[in-house]
Amino acid sequence: MFNKKAQEPMPELPEVETVVRALRQPLIGLTITAVRNDWPRHIGTPTLDELRLRICNCRVEAIHRRAKYLVFSLTQGETLIIHLKMSGHLAVVDASAPADKHVHTVFELDNGQELRFRDIRKFGRVYLVHDPAQILGKLGPEPLEADFSPDVLQNRLNGRTRAIKPLLLDQQLIAGVGNIYADEALFYARLHPTRPANTFSKKEISALHAAIQKVLRLGIEREGASIELYVKPDGSKGDMQNAVAVFRRTGDPCYECGRPIERIVLGGRSTHFCSHCQK
Ligand SMILES: [Zn+2]
Repeated sequence: MFNKKAQEPMPELPEVETVVRALRQPLIGLTITAVRNDWPRHIGTPTLDELRLRICNCRVEAIHRRAKYLVFSLTQGETLIIHLKMSGHLAVVDASAPADKHVHTVFELDNGQELRFRDIRKFGRVYLVHDPAQILGKLGPEPLEADFSPDVLQNRLNGRTRAIKPLLLDQQLIAGVGNIYADEALFYARLHPTRPANTFSKKEISALHAAIQKVLRLGIEREGASIELYVKPDGSKGDMQNAVAVFRRTGDPCYECGRPIERIVLGGRSTHFCSHCQK
């Protein structure tokens, strides 16, 4: 059965990194003066009232990414954390710019602009915390950081008997990889998505490690994959959808061997691969 909800890709590491990079220039140095919200469930913690009290007069000092979260370091010891989930879109625009009904949380800024969180599916979340570990503490290593080595990957997969594809989506195992980049990484590593993780040789682990980094770097370079709802903060599309090897290419010829790309559902998620090239 075609399950639209299960299939919908959410922004992953490269998409969130692209959003972070685009928001730094317009946001850093500005002060939040007010918050508007018409969907209180957008606010994960604290309550909307408390968030308003604490965030007003905070200045944005830095913006970075952790896994699929945007992390805004604010003055007064506050950290604003946003997860875009399936359809979240952030943009800094003039307060006078027209807003549609899908804009649910708005941070007013001291320069006449505002940071708007538009979210058609409304699964996105906003958190304001003193200690970022409250939200980010359980996440696995960042796959593009220097300390993510093949040995780290090996250790994290040790003894895991589950198929590799759903394991790659586990944010506590590795942070930031989702459905698109897991399928792509397994293709470049020449590994079948159903292979149990504890069957890999050292060489295969190294190939997987290299492939994860390769596809994430490519995704960042291409500014994300605009396959469903993801667009950049300025509304334009990323380009990674034009550079995928297997994701949503079901029936199309494999770029390596020419045989059709196959699709199966694994762990509830659509999975695309070449059964000839991936073992
Ligand atoms: Zn192939």
